[in-house]
Amino acid sequence: VTHIHTDPADLAAHAAQVRRYALTAIYGAGSGHPGGALSAADILTCLYQSELMLDPANPEWPHRDRFVLSKGHSCPALYGALADRGLIDRALVPTLRKLGSPLQGHPFASQLAWIEASTGSLGQGFSQAIGMAMGLRHARKTSRVYVMLGDGELQEGEVWEGAMCAAHYQLGNLCAIVDYNKLQSDNCPANIMGLEPLVGKWEAFGWNALRIDGHNIDAILDAFDTARLCRDKPTVIVADTVKGQGVTFMAGAPHWHGSVKMKDEELVQALGELGGDDAEISWALGREASHVGH
Ligand SMILES: [Mg+2]
Repeated sequence: VTHIHTDPADLAAHAAQVRRYALTAIYGAGSGHPGGALSAADILTCLYQSELMLDPANPEWPHRDRFVLSKGHSCPALYGALADRGLIDRALVPTLRKLGSPLQGHPFASQLAWIEASTGSLGQGFSQAIGMAMGLRHARKTSRVYVMLGDGELQEGEVWEGAMCAAHYQLGNLCAIVDYNKLQSDNCPANIMGLEPLVGKWEAFGWNALRIDGHNIDAILDAFDTARLCRDKPTVIVADTVKGQGVTFMAGAPHWHGSVKMKDEELVQALGELGGDDAEISWALGREASHVGH
C-alpha cells in the first residue's frame, strides 16, 4: 500500500519528475507559482512515494493518511506528485487553471478525489488538518495527518491558534512541515515580519520540533520516521529549502514566486536542467489539452 520507494537516488529522480510536471503545468496555464512548488517538491515526493499510507485504487479508503497543502498556491507540485505516483493521469498536468479541469490554481477538494482540503486562504489548511487529526483520533483510527505550510503563511495568527490547539490535545498523529524557503511574495519574511527563532517558537508551543535540509531525501525520510515515533505531541519539521530549487535561473529569485508567464525558452531550459528528455519537452510545449470536458 505504501513505502513503494525508499531508495534516495530513486526518490531524487521522482522529485525531478515532480518538478518537471509542476513547471509544465504552470507553463500551460500561462500563470502560477513556480518558486514555492520547486522548494516543496522533494518533501512532496517523499510523502507520496514513501510516507503516506494510501490505496491507489481507492482515494476514499478510510484508513488512509491525509495530506493537506495549506500553502495551496504551490499545488502544481502537489499535482506533479500525484501524477508521478500514478494517482492522476499525466495528461491532466497541462490543464492547470483551465475551465473544467480538476487541477485548479489552488487545491479544490470537490473536483479532485485526492485533494483532502480546499486551501489557499493561508492558515486555514492547517486548521482543517488539525480537525482531521482530532476526528481520526476520536474515531480510534491509526491514520496520520500531514500538513505543509509556507514560511510566509506562519505570519497568519490562525496558525498559532492551531499550534496551541494541536499541542493541547496532544495530537501525536499530526505532522506539520514548514517549507522554510526564506521568501514570500516579493520579499523575505525577515523584512516583513520575522519568524526567528522559529524552532524555538514551535517548541514553546509544545511541539516536537525538528529542523532538516528539505532537499536532502535521507533527512526527510528520517524526520518522518522520528515524527511517527512521537505519540504524545504533534511534530513539526522545519525544512530549510530554496525557493525555485532545481532550476538555476529560478533558485532564490523572488520574481519566480507567482503569477509568472513562462516563455518557451525558459521552460525548455528548466526542463533540460531537471533531466527532461526531448520527448517530454515537446509534450510540455504542446499545450495539447486546452480544456477538459465534464
Ligand atoms: Mg516562502
